[in-house]
Order: sequence, then structure tokens, then C-alpha cells
Amino acid sequence: MSKICPVCHTIFKVRNNHHTYCCSHCRKIHHKTVYYDKKRPEHKHVQNAKIIRMFYCHKCKKQVLVTDEKDRRKKFCSPRCEKLYWKHPRQKIIKNTI
Ligand SMILES: [Zn+2]
Ligand SMILES: [Zn+2]
Repeated sequence: MSKICPVCHTIFKVRNNHHTYCCSHCRKIHHKTVYYDKKRPEHKHVQNAKIIRMFYCHKCKKQVLVTDEKDRRKKFCSPRCEKLYWKHPRQKIIKNTI
């Protein structure tokens, strides 16, 4: 029986019905194209984590990446850092001076 190669469209004779391509070369080419046509979605979680803004904490100098629109942080990485930053240095009186 004869078949048409899906790659080079050549009519070729086959003894075995399992053969789809005229030669191993065409088979490889077809497998490659099928493989590359599959546009796999690349790491969706990375797209979700879109960085809205980036800044350095004024207190601890740590880099802060804001990925949530609801995140209102602009100067400090945490409320703790904000409190420490605004705290006047003079208030740091060591009480236990024994
Ligand atoms: Zn072929
Ligand atoms: Zn901080």
C-alpha cells in the first residue's frame, strides 16, 4: 500500500501500516515541528508576581518589592521599621545602668 508523507508530501510505499513518514528524517522533522508548535505557558506564577514598585527600607536598608496593589508601603518594609525610624534617638535612654 502507499501513503503520503505528511512532511515532504511524497507518496511512498509501506509494508508496515504503522509507518507514517517516508523516512526517519521526515519523522524527526515532523516531531520537531510538533514539539515547537506547542507554546507552553511559562511559569504563570512569575507573571502573577508583577512588581509594582521597588524601594529600600529607610530603616533597615532592605530591598522591598511590592507586588500587591493593596500594599501601600513606600518607605518602610514593615510597621516595626517605621516606628523605629521615627523614634527619636534621644529616647533611647538605657534605664538599667547598673
Ligand atoms: Zn517525507
Ligand atoms: Zn526595614
